[in-house]
Amino acid sequence: MTTPGRPELSLVLYPDPVLRRKTPTVTVFDGNLRSLAEAMFEIMTAERGIGLAAPQVGRSVRLLVAAFEEEGVPPTALVNPKLVSSSGSVVMTEGCLSFPGIFAELRRAESIRVEAQDLDGEKISIEADGLYARVLLHEMDHLDGRLFIDLFSHAQRIRTRPALRELEKAWERRKKGV
Ligand SMILES: [Zn+2]
Repeated sequence: MTTPGRPELSLVLYPDPVLRRKTPTVTVFDGNLRSLAEAMFEIMTAERGIGLAAPQVGRSVRLLVAAFEEEGVPPTALVNPKLVSSSGSVVMTEGCLSFPGIFAELRRAESIRVEAQDLDGEKISIEADGLYARVLLHEMDHLDGRLFIDLFSHAQRIRTRPALRELEKAWERRKKGV
């Protein structure tokens, strides 16, 4: 059954081209944006993710959601987020809902400050560190069409090549409707 006004969305997997598109700035803060964010929260929760960017549900919209309440981060939707400052660097294991089964240790900033807008268009500023910073950096990359595989070392590329190839083959099959 479909809910009126609620977009029918599902998780988009690599190598869907929408994942490589840079998202345009959001200028209209309306019910559609809120419905999109709500659908993204539902998909993220169902997939046990802690962050999700709109291109991952097939929408080229500058919107991300994140939540992991055990770390004290309530469900957060950020529109038009911008990295304002960053410091430190830390290596953590990272995965992505659009790349099932693929994980890699990646170095990113440890602490960041992000300015964004909420779903009403109000300006917000967020300080994040550790895992929260990692999630925001990963999801902000998605909004520019950058994927975590772009940060892989040569050795990580070689190790994950068979799994990426499988995802590519599965995508080709879906495209042909097989
Ligand atoms: Zn991702």
